[in-house]
Amino acid sequence: MKIQDIRATTVTVPLEAPLRHANGCHWGRFVRTVVEVEADNGLIGLGEMGGGGESAEAAFRALKPYLAGTDPFRLEEMRFRICNPTASLYNNRTQLHAALEFACLDLMGQHLGLPVSELLGGRVREQVGFASYLFYRYPNLDGVFEVRTPDQLLAEADRLKERYGFTAHKLKGGVFPPDYELACYRSLAERFPDDRVRYDPNGVLSVEEGIRFGQAIEDLYNDYLEDPSFGLAAMARVRGMVRVPLATNTVVINFEQLAQNILQMGATGAPPVDIVLLDTTFWGGIRPCIKAAGLCETFNLGIAVHSSGELGIQLATMLHLGSVLPNLTFAADAHYHHLLDDVIEGGPFTYNAGRIAVPQGPGLGVRLDRDKLNRYAELFRELGGYPYDQDPGRPGWAPLVPNERWADPEDATRPDPLK
Ligand SMILES: [Mg+2]
Repeated sequence: MKIQDIRATTVTVPLEAPLRHANGCHWGRFVRTVVEVEADNGLIGLGEMGGGGESAEAAFRALKPYLAGTDPFRLEEMRFRICNPTASLYNNRTQLHAALEFACLDLMGQHLGLPVSELLGGRVREQVGFASYLFYRYPNLDGVFEVRTPDQLLAEADRLKERYGFTAHKLKGGVFPPDYELACYRSLAERFPDDRVRYDPNGVLSVEEGIRFGQAIEDLYNDYLEDPSFGLAAMARVRGMVRVPLATNTVVINFEQLAQNILQMGATGAPPVDIVLLDTTFWGGIRPCIKAAGLCETFNLGIAVHSSGELGIQLATMLHLGSVLPNLTFAADAHYHHLLDDVIEGGPFTYNAGRIAVPQGPGLGVRLDRDKLNRYAELFRELGGYPYDQDPGRPGWAPLVPNERWADPEDATRPDPLK
């Protein structure tokens, strides 16, 4: 089997409502680029990457000469062709590589008639559990689904638990002043005293605020406190003063950083980061995540599966990853339940008691719904991209890190994110 063609299509899929975060907002939709790697036997492997547009489509097209005629089983060869560590200083292709790795694994699985998970060590579980992933949200164009007040947050948490069966709840924060979000988080934890909770302000708290926040939640049923402050040194200082495990998806996202985290644990007896959140895109593929999970297993660091925003193809990579990690003790994160649709055959994946079944079919086990792909590619052409690091309700705003330019919880602005 040889790679014959690489195609990329950027799509926009609507969200229930705009998702607010510490650095800006998802403006009511996700923009993703779907990658198809076609082999000379007619099989098509699928990949997915965040963001897109002409530059992303062109970036994938530009890699065709690197990979045309090569064997999709030769994954390490591909890594050095397009992610040579020195050349990457000039041209970092980690995220492109991830999407191509997904597609090659999908081709391998289809060729052999095996699910990707069975090629990667084999499943130790058939379903992967997910957390509810609550965001502060602007209302959608119909004026509903706002999450700003504590009452709205609890109502949304109730709705998600009822609908999907979640028993772990993540609150994405860093939007409003820390004391306001602390009160929201505590009310969430107290609403579901038997469920586990996690809070993630995306690293925008000062170390001192991170310590104060962390100490104020020590009595709750926390999975972990995620990226309270930015940087490994900041995490170490927070960790030294707070009796809650810390997790990150920002400062341990490659092997150099993981080594540093482990070396600091050796030097001080405690790691800056207790739980490494494995993102199949940020780490450059499913296989690097499995390698990292092995190191974490050796050093007894925790792991969880991270979400950088996904449609069904990427979700499938997260499910196959989660199914093969013996040391996965936390629910995964997914933005997926905020989406109104997907581009895969059979429609969106369904949750059962907070879990999603790992696909059984060969490869990643998902196939493209061409009508939907075309429809959402058209929607992207219509709406274009959006600036992830801007807030439609606060034109011209940008956060500081550590931040002090918080949103006002009394401000009921209803921006039109399509403008
Ligand atoms: Mg995070």
